[in-house]
Amino acid sequence: MDDPASTSMIITIDGPAGTGKSTVARRLAEELGWSCLDTGAMYRACALLSLQAGISPDNGPAMAAALDRVRLGFDFAASPPRLYLNDEDVTDRVRDTDVAGVVSIVAQQSEVRSVLIRQQRQIASEHPKLVTEGRDQGSVVFPDAILRFYLDASPEIRARRRADQMARAGRPVDLQEVLAQIEQRDELDSTRVDGPLICPEGAIRIDTTDASIEQVVAMLVEHADSRLQDSGEPGC
Ligand code: C5P
Repeated sequence: MDDPASTSMIITIDGPAGTGKSTVARRLAEELGWSCLDTGAMYRACALLSLQAGISPDNGPAMAAALDRVRLGFDFAASPPRLYLNDEDVTDRVRDTDVAGVVSIVAQQSEVRSVLIRQQRQIASEHPKLVTEGRDQGSVVFPDAILRFYLDASPEIRARRRADQMARAGRPVDLQEVLAQIEQRDELDSTRVDGPLICPEGAIRIDTTDASIEQVVAMLVEHADSRLQDSGEPGC
């Protein structure tokens, strides 16, 4: 398959949990009129699959085989897109703490990563104007994307944001538990061998600790506008 980044307009947003990546990616995609891909949700769906199928999350080959037997995909007609595991809408379920508790272990498995990376490149070939967010989108999956961002913030503010988000969704969680989970996931995500969380070389790094979502979105839109104008594409 052609490198999708050579035929698609792709903007990547990498960074750890709780930097507002999902919201910012969605809002940027809306501003541009592009599709948006939440790759963390795909890893979460794999974690849910491991819980539902009783497969140990560190058994990469068994997880990859199980992934081959299910349909994992987004309904891009919905805004934001809904995530399906077979016929089950798991968009909200994958946010639960039992899923968050095993997702980084599942995401450490190279067999799982290669299946999901293949699916992400396939999605990009079907959605040639795409904002995609995750841990490895700019570093591994789409290194030739026209624009790559890396969002960061302190662990405390990231935990607070995630807890607030869960409370708003009617699923309140303990702040200290979320902080501990975030720190553990940061450690696992940045020390894994395959696709570790790093700020990709050449990416634009944005510290969101003291910035509102609106301010971050405005910064990204400004960068995107100027990059797209340079490439001859109409901006927002
Ligand atoms: O972004 P979100 O918190 O939903 O991601 C959940 C987990 O999925 C991350 O902690 C990470 O372990 C994994 N992930 C990944 N690569 C991606 C996206 C997410 O390893 N591109």
